[in-house]
Amino acid sequence: MSDDERCEEYLFKIVIIGDSAVGKSNLLTRYARNEFNPNSKATIGVEFQTQSMLIDGKEVKAQIWDTAGQERFRAVTSAYYRGAVGALVVYDITRTSTFENVGRWLDELNTHSDTTVAKMLIGNKCDLESIRAVSIEEGKSLAESQGLFFMETSALDSTNVSTAFEMVIREIYGNIS
Ligand code: GDP
Ligand code: MG
Repeated sequence: MSDDERCEEYLFKIVIIGDSAVGKSNLLTRYARNEFNPNSKATIGVEFQTQSMLIDGKEVKAQIWDTAGQERFRAVTSAYYRGAVGALVVYDITRTSTFENVGRWLDELNTHSDTTVAKMLIGNKCDLESIRAVSIEEGKSLAESQGLFFMETSALDSTNVSTAFEMVIREIYGNIS
């Protein structure tokens, strides 16, 4: 490793937002630890998890923040958003109300951010095709109208989870370099 490479370090704060029970905590544990928790319970303890990836041969660390269930009371604080350079805005493809609330989450994110934030809209639980309530086209068109990336994921069967996080991380890297 050259001196140049040794000196370079990247740490990006990414927040996960969206209504309660859309799968935010499970997307994070699937990405950071390859774990899934079938029981719905409020996140306890850990504020964030860190995961590294290599881009252009450089180690890039993503510090990914998960709410501790405050979203239930619409009480996600400004500290949560502070310094974030990336965001995953998550809805549940089986619950229309969670999709309808995406706009409110985007407004809140925009209110609290003072820099460019790489944003991705995530339609989670795509393994539940038989009870789908929001079409892929609806997700895509909302993302396009708001200038967001879009992907459907499943924290349960792992579909697109790493891909989604890595796309956001690459976009952030592209924004700063
Ligand atoms: P959060 O409140 O947004 O953090 O949501 P959780 O991660 O706690 O998940 C809420 C519930 O949905 C839990 O019962 C999870 O097991 C379930 N869940 C999360 N992701 C998925 C998924 O991709 N597919 C399915 N079928 N269930 C999921
Ligand atoms: Mg949670």
